[in-house]
Amino acid sequence: MTSEAQVDVAIVGGGIAGLWLLARLRHAGFSCVLCEGHALGPGQTVASQGIIHGGTKYSLTGKLSGAAEAIGAMPGIWRAALQGQGEPDLSRATILSEHQYLWTTESLGSKLTGFFAGKAMKARMQPLQRDRHPEPFAERAFHGSLYQLDEPVLDTRTLLSAFSDAYADSLLHIDPNAVRLEIGDDGVRMAVRAPSGEQLSLRARRVILTAGAGNEALARALPAAAAPMQRRPLQMVMVRGELPALYAHCLGVSANPRATITSNRDRAGRQVWYVGGQVAEIGANRTHDEQLHAAHAELAEILPWVDLAHTEWATLRVDRAEGRQPGGHRPDLPVLNWSGPVGVAWPTKLALAPRLAEMVMDGLGLDTPTQAEGLPGLDEWPRPEVAPYPWDVEGRTWS
Ligand code: FAD
Repeated sequence: MTSEAQVDVAIVGGGIAGLWLLARLRHAGFSCVLCEGHALGPGQTVASQGIIHGGTKYSLTGKLSGAAEAIGAMPGIWRAALQGQGEPDLSRATILSEHQYLWTTESLGSKLTGFFAGKAMKARMQPLQRDRHPEPFAERAFHGSLYQLDEPVLDTRTLLSAFSDAYADSLLHIDPNAVRLEIGDDGVRMAVRAPSGEQLSLRARRVILTAGAGNEALARALPAAAAPMQRRPLQMVMVRGELPALYAHCLGVSANPRATITSNRDRAGRQVWYVGGQVAEIGANRTHDEQLHAAHAELAEILPWVDLAHTEWATLRVDRAEGRQPGGHRPDLPVLNWSGPVGVAWPTKLALAPRLAEMVMDGLGLDTPTQAEGLPGLDEWPRPEVAPYPWDVEGRTWS
């Protein structure tokens, strides 16, 4: 059987980009549907480190780059939403840590003087005297410098749940391989199918593709396919066991942190360190075993006093999917390409999702909502679940 529906905007892809946009559109009164092909956020959002960057990481060269300026406003927008004072209301999402830390090893010495003297940076980070050091930096064996960054770290599953609870009536679980788009004079005809086989024919004034890496295949089907994508691969490392909670970047001499460590509890209640930064970037070219070996050596060097003897380790290969840039560099901003009434979008960072939603709203060209009465007849359509964390995925090898 084929159902029919008409909406102002149909979104394809339920990671942070699609969900934040859905919230913005719904608040503006537009009728919307968000079609998700798997679960909410399994590509990147749930695999991200959940850091709401304010630009510090991009300023490690000592001056504010374009990326740092663009992202500087984001923590404020997120904080308002997380306190229930913004749009969307994310007060049900969990903040794992209000701050991150940035530490240097003692060998780094004065190389950082210029960086820390920078006026812009002073406002965002404060040096911590030893009596204020949290674990594991409270140990006497730590001889480096420690700074506190005013940038929160989120539990991304509760973030996705906050959206999914608020906008469940706009979410549809679909077969990702059966999305058909046909651009007409009055908008887009979009055909989708439920995993159970039921068909839906949607008429939408605009369609926005926010399917992360999935955008590549979806955009290829557009008549004027002009949405090139790039992937920047990572091999993340997961360490579980008796560990202190840690949300911190270890600063090296390069513009990227040597390692960025965030922490979560897994389903069994174990602490898991999720390790990114250069360890994961350089590690993308290593085999699984080489990566485990290299990550062991790196953590032993940057946190020599932390006992890692009884921990278990695993790796995760994951790509960052972004709008293509010359030389394959990270874009400074979200990327949004329009192909008539179809927009193809990548936020570039979790933190930049509000900015992307603003860009879409500006380019939508729909002044007034015409269909604000919801989606009649789709009450029984299956809804997508929230994806599990990488460390909770069944069948992963830990060693
Ligand atoms: P995704 O989260 O990938 O969501 C895309 C959605 O589309 C998925 O739910 C997928 O199932 C769905 N989909 C795919 N194909 C189809 C289809 N054909 N039909 C229907 N649905 C489809 N950014 C930060 O700001 N802070 C961080 O700490 C951070 N850490 C990161 C760590 C890692 C390891 C990675 C990879 C990225 C990190 N990022 C971080 C970047 C950030 O995660 C991404 O920019 C952001 O999550 C992308 O969101 P998205 O919604 O575009 O894509």
